Amino acid sequence: MRQIVIVTGASRGIGAATATRAAARGYAVCVNYLRSRGAAERVVTDIRAAGGQAEAVQADVASDADVARLFETCTARLGTPTALVNNAGILETQMRIDEMDAARWQRVFATNVLGSFLCAREAVRRMSTRHGGAGGAIVNVSSGASRLGSPGEYVDYAASKGAIDTLTIGLAREVAAEGIRVNAVRPGFIYTDIHASGGEPGRVDRVKTSVPMQRGGRADEVAAAILWLLSDDASYSTGTFIDVMGGK
Ligand code: NAP
Repeated sequence: MRQIVIVTGASRGIGAATATRAAARGYAVCVNYLRSRGAAERVVTDIRAAGGQAEAVQADVASDADVARLFETCTARLGTPTALVNNAGILETQMRIDEMDAARWQRVFATNVLGSFLCAREAVRRMSTRHGGAGGAIVNVSSGASRLGSPGEYVDYAASKGAIDTLTIGLAREVAAEGIRVNAVRPGFIYTDIHASGGEPGRVDRVKTSVPMQRGGRADEVAAAILWLLSDDASYSTGTFIDVMGGK
């Protein structure tokens, strides 16, 4: 059966690396993005140039209507998704909790938590044997922050990833007998644009000496773990986590 994967937030960073690697493994890839249309189209162009199949679809994962449209568009252009990578995520400027406002927490939780729940729900509705589906695999992109808490930087972001860890455990057990595996990766300090959102583009180089392997990670190193969890090689693994953190 043809494998079809939706990768949220695939215009750059870990999502783009995952989309590219999935296409190389033979998946048809739905490349979701929020604003970076040009970057998403470049990911699609590169995949097609290498002989793969991909479509770029704009959607805000925090919007119920957008997520419904994302899945409908994927189904119309590529086929019913057999896999989902809940990758889209944001963080905001580094600060302590006593400096944060409620609007920020609503933004961070809307994208990171609500977005993952909405996409997971749409995936289960299509993949679950309970709903007549053929099964599938979901990988949630959590963060080492869920274990470390990100004090002084973004405890809100870390807590949102804690919610993703719990979603992974609960949903995995909920749908384990319905043909769907649900797992997560927890990246550590990875070289992507996300750190600029925190106000420190060079953050990975500042903190890398705290990593046992003494370096930051690459997006393709995270993508490799995601693709393993999606694959049949992980056929007896569900509700599990792969830390991609250089030993931290
Ligand atoms: P990134 O380079 O900032 O890319 C974020 C991606 O998410 C972009 O494609 C962006 O789309 C998309 N996005 C943001 N908000 C969205 C929304 N509401 N709807 C749809 N797409 C949205 O981030 P990254 O570092 O690759 O991070 C990817 C995931 O890994 C995130 O969940 C992040 O929390 C997690 N992670 C990253 C690190 C790290 O060190 N980099 C560590 C641990 C975990 P546009 O380009 O269109 O805005």
